[in-house]
Amino acid sequence: MEWNKGALLYEGKAKKVYESDDQRYVIVEYKDDATAFNGEKKGQIKDKRRVNNLISAKMFGILEERGIPTHYVKTLKDHEMVVKHCDIIPVEVIVRNVAAGGMAKKLGIDEGGDLIPPVVEYCLKSDSLSDPMINDDHIRALGLATEEEMEIIRSLSLRINEVLKEVYLKAGLGLVDFKLEFGRHEGEIILGDEISPDTCRLWDIKTGESMDKDRFRRDLGYVEEAYQEVLKRISAL
Ligand code: 5GP
Repeated sequence: MEWNKGALLYEGKAKKVYESDDQRYVIVEYKDDATAFNGEKKGQIKDKRRVNNLISAKMFGILEERGIPTHYVKTLKDHEMVVKHCDIIPVEVIVRNVAAGGMAKKLGIDEGGDLIPPVVEYCLKSDSLSDPMINDDHIRALGLATEEEMEIIRSLSLRINEVLKEVYLKAGLGLVDFKLEFGRHEGEIILGDEISPDTCRLWDIKTGESMDKDRFRRDLGYVEEAYQEVLKRISAL
């Protein structure tokens, strides 16, 4: 089947979504644009669109092999993939294995402590409200998802954590935390969005250095180099 980009359906901070010739699918184009602190900090990370598309494709492929349904269909170009069109549930799911970032700040604790069992958090996907944290009751009361859907989402998120931890570890990276988004496609809950150094906090096992978007957020330098290194290690698996 030939895939042609149709009308632009949506433009987000890191991706554009286009119609395809088949309404069951859309084409996602990744961007080099980088934002942090809810769009307050803006910049570009050279070649990020290729890195994030290719890492996401590899991770979605591995998850599918492990029986986790994702929106991924195929890689079209270095920075473009075809995905299943889904109705995105406006809830960001964060899974944390190690205290860091927003959680360390909110609770006034040091970064680096192991979290056993992993912590699952939900945030309302809303730029204007800075993605406030919500719980299962808010999600049900606001009609964002049903109880059954949230049970599936929580269980898939924990299974995804186990797979991603294992894969990143093979690449010499510790998976500190990450963000997932889910959607509904033909009656099924599937994983959407991306899995990349933009959405995962990754610490090098040997040096402890950040190999993710924190290099951009915290002005740590060597941002492009870290993204390229993650792609190199993941591609070699
Ligand atoms: P934190 O709550 O510590 O800021 O983020 C936890 C994890 O989820 C980090 O790996 C972070 O990259 C990811 N994350 C949370 N919210 C967002 C978001 O709005 N966009 C992206 N790209 N990642 C997010």
